[in-house]
Amino acid sequence: MSTSKSGSGTVYLVGAGPGDLGLVTLRAKECIEKADVIGYDHLANPETLGWARDDAEIIYVGKTAGESGISQNEINALLIEKAREGKQVVRLKGGDPFVFGRGAEEAQMIADAGIAFEIVPGVTSSIAGPAYAGIPVTHRGHNSHVTIFTGHEDPAKTESVIDYAALAKLGGTQVMLMGVERLGSITSEMTKHGVRGDLPVALIRWATTGQQETLTGTLADIAQKAVANDFAAPAVAVFGDVVALRDKLNWYETRPLLGKRIVVTRTRKQASVLSSKLRALGAHVIELPTIRIEPPSDLREFAELVQDAHIYDWIVFTSANGVDAFFDIFFKLYDDAREIGGARIAAIGPATGQRVKDFHLHVDLQPKEFVAEEVVREFKNQGSIENLKILLVRAEKTRDVLPKELLGLGAIVDEAFAYRTVPETRDTSGARGQLAKDGADLITFTSSSTVENFLALGLPWPKGMQVASIGPITSQTARDNGLKIDVEARRHDIDGLVKAIGAFFAGESAKKS
Ligand code: SAH
Repeated sequence: MSTSKSGSGTVYLVGAGPGDLGLVTLRAKECIEKADVIGYDHLANPETLGWARDDAEIIYVGKTAGESGISQNEINALLIEKAREGKQVVRLKGGDPFVFGRGAEEAQMIADAGIAFEIVPGVTSSIAGPAYAGIPVTHRGHNSHVTIFTGHEDPAKTESVIDYAALAKLGGTQVMLMGVERLGSITSEMTKHGVRGDLPVALIRWATTGQQETLTGTLADIAQKAVANDFAAPAVAVFGDVVALRDKLNWYETRPLLGKRIVVTRTRKQASVLSSKLRALGAHVIELPTIRIEPPSDLREFAELVQDAHIYDWIVFTSANGVDAFFDIFFKLYDDAREIGGARIAAIGPATGQRVKDFHLHVDLQPKEFVAEEVVREFKNQGSIENLKILLVRAEKTRDVLPKELLGLGAIVDEAFAYRTVPETRDTSGARGQLAKDGADLITFTSSSTVENFLALGLPWPKGMQVASIGPITSQTARDNGLKIDVEARRHDIDGLVKAIGAFFAGESAKKS
């Protein structure tokens, strides 16, 4: 999807799914990754913007035309103008682009302008929302059709075009998008047209996200319950007997971390493993990268050390990033893995070891603990390293316990600075604003640099936000900076951290009940 030479770009009308990042299609992700310009609105999960190119132009087009200060026509005109400049433009819309939300109108205007376009269907909230509440929209024993209608019509229309008489007669499952705030008049119209008062109804708000909530009732009482519970948009309403199946099929809302807002501070690239494990437990993850990995200040020196890797007795990796940086250069220099020679390989921590194995190389020494002192102990255990040549592949500006100790054991140590961690200055998905506005329950720190760089951002500390740390060194840095540690992983890796967080919240809810 590079900028076309003929001067005309393409507009991709892309469905971003209902909220859960895992429900975005592969095609949508591909479009986001390649786009020059992305226009998104409030129902499109902003985390998807993390996939955008660094130089992509990202435009928030608001909740309603009014909110962003630009009208629907202006949005369309802007997208068309960008496409005319030869850009690849993605218009990202919540759910499916052609299920309400004006996608069809946008497509018409783009077509009228003579711009090339593509439609990328998405998982619609009208079906996925009920599914995440344990409500199948069809069931052989209950219904044979589903109707999707809008409770929020064009305000310019004087008469309702929703044919309540027909809806009442049709039966089946009826799914309503928009209009929870008008539920009172909608349910009374339905009742007036003969729908039975005890018909089961469910409202699902922020469906498929860590903030999902479901309210159930009947046609007779749901509107009043919604008011009593402050049940605000965005929500999907389901009317029909299938709602009763939720009693048995409610699967998502039973997850242990549902509703917990957890901040992930790792680099954008590394965040995904931690984020997806937390999401799998139902958490609402706020990815707020505080650091970014950049090439080392002296790339030439690093490359020279990599080139000479075969002269060493040991190569020691201290992080998965170091492994990546090393082999990135290594395979630019050589096209045969055997060029690494007879060097043995040590990797600190399971994630680092795994990354070495990903390159089909054996790890000869793998200290269990993710702390430098443990590596020294393991080296000692396995015999003398006196006069052995060790290449230590690590980040710039990290603790220098390891080289000192290895030197102390008589080894000859060269340090290869593979990468640098620098503060992340961009905030493509708007996570900083989200944190300031809605707060969080817990923030996770996976290294000392995430602590330092988070604090350097100077964001106000959200009320009640607790702290989880991956291990003692990170915790110490946090304490040195005046933070209190509420959770510390026993195993100092991502799985260990996730486990500790799960146990922490389980303990908290046990305390409350
Ligand atoms: N194209 C979208 C719908 C756009 S209309 C789709 O296919 O899902 C906007 C309405 O969609 C909202 O008012 C709400 O009724 C519904 N909606 C979208 N995402 C939702 C979510 N995550 N949870 C609940 N309702 C949602």
